[in-house]
Amino acid sequence: MKIEILNTGSELLLGSTANTHGTWMGQELSKLGLRVQRQTTVPDGVAIEEALAECISRSDAVLVTGGLGPTSDDITREAAAKALNVELIEDEAAKRSLYEYFEKRKYPMAKVNLCQAQVLVGADVIPNPNGTAPGIYSPPRLSGEENCALFLLPGPPNELYPMFHAEVTPRLKALAGVETISEVTELKFVGIGESSFHEGIDAQLAEIDGLEVGYCARLGELDLRLIGSQEAIEQGRKIAEASFADFLVSEDGSSLEKVVVELLKQSRKTLATAESCTGGLIASRVTDVSGASAVFTHGFITYSNEAKSQLLGVQAETLVAHGAVSEEVAGEMAAGARQSSGADIAVSITGIAGPTGGAEEKPVGTVCFGIATSEGVETFREYHPRSRADFKQQASQRALDLVRRAIR
Ligand code: ATP
Ligand code: MG
Repeated sequence: MKIEILNTGSELLLGSTANTHGTWMGQELSKLGLRVQRQTTVPDGVAIEEALAECISRSDAVLVTGGLGPTSDDITREAAAKALNVELIEDEAAKRSLYEYFEKRKYPMAKVNLCQAQVLVGADVIPNPNGTAPGIYSPPRLSGEENCALFLLPGPPNELYPMFHAEVTPRLKALAGVETISEVTELKFVGIGESSFHEGIDAQLAEIDGLEVGYCARLGELDLRLIGSQEAIEQGRKIAEASFADFLVSEDGSSLEKVVVELLKQSRKTLATAESCTGGLIASRVTDVSGASAVFTHGFITYSNEAKSQLLGVQAETLVAHGAVSEEVAGEMAAGARQSSGADIAVSITGIAGPTGGAEEKPVGTVCFGIATSEGVETFREYHPRSRADFKQQASQRALDLVRRAIR
């Protein structure tokens, strides 16, 4: 089933309101196994009618948001009537609901509100318990040859969201029929680049009948999206797991920090962090996870050399001989954090976020990690020349992944 979303509102194109409806609806529909083919944003005014005519001509269902209010810029109803070539009539029940809405709140109703009781001939009125504008559902038969279902939905999120769940979802499911509904699974991988990943499995995935594959690379992680029948997804999952089990973090969208906290809980281990260049970001991410108090004991932020020595026992000689950004210092930071906290695992980071402070042998983007466990201390050096914020995010990602690997 071809589904399109049409978001209306000049504020969306002026950039003063982010078009979160497009994102939200896309997510909700994909949870149902339904796909959005296209999403269009148009300003208030005549563009709505033009866009509607186009959407209707090529799709099976069109979901329109906004422009159902009572003001002169709210013209979605009129535009739909023109695009479908049907009349608008006043709906008695919708009118009664409007009067009741205002009576309950003891507000006088303005005359302009009456336009919100106008409905396309042959369409259903969708009740709006949270606002004045009812939604409108025009079933496929109305649009004649094109045979497209049309939903007109209010702009305010507190009106749209409940209406979508209660009234739109069931109608779309019925229209789609079970056989067109597919499943969606997202596998999250950490520590592998998009290109190597693609090279490793794309050809194999392409051979699976009816499987749609998508890759979404974020800082330090990669999502593999599989869409299709349950069997097709299962085959895809097996291929991905066989090639990249070591990098697979979650199969339900869980974040790396959530997975780390879960693994720590399961293995009854505790964690401490010793951070320099990330300024507490690892600790912050760990404590974003509810229940982190069971496993997270200490977060040391040791930005200066003195702090590294005072709190973590990093030797002055090590700092002088190797510099603060070195595997040697990272190792002593991790060992010191583990010892002074008593945690089972300690991870450390020291690096040069930039844009200033780089040197030839240690350019901006250089970062060293240490991980201390009962088995000893391991250190790593990497290079991530990025913006300051991205560098911190990527470094925290790598550190959390070191903890994940240490537990496993
Ligand atoms: P109203 O009765 O408030 O006029 P409406 O159905 O005409 O409702 P709009 O005027 O288009 O809807 O939008 C109402 C509010 O909803 C706006 O203030 C806007 O912030 C929010 N909104 C509308 N469309 C979107 C969107 N696509 N994404 C996020 N917010 C939106
Ligand atoms: Mg409006």
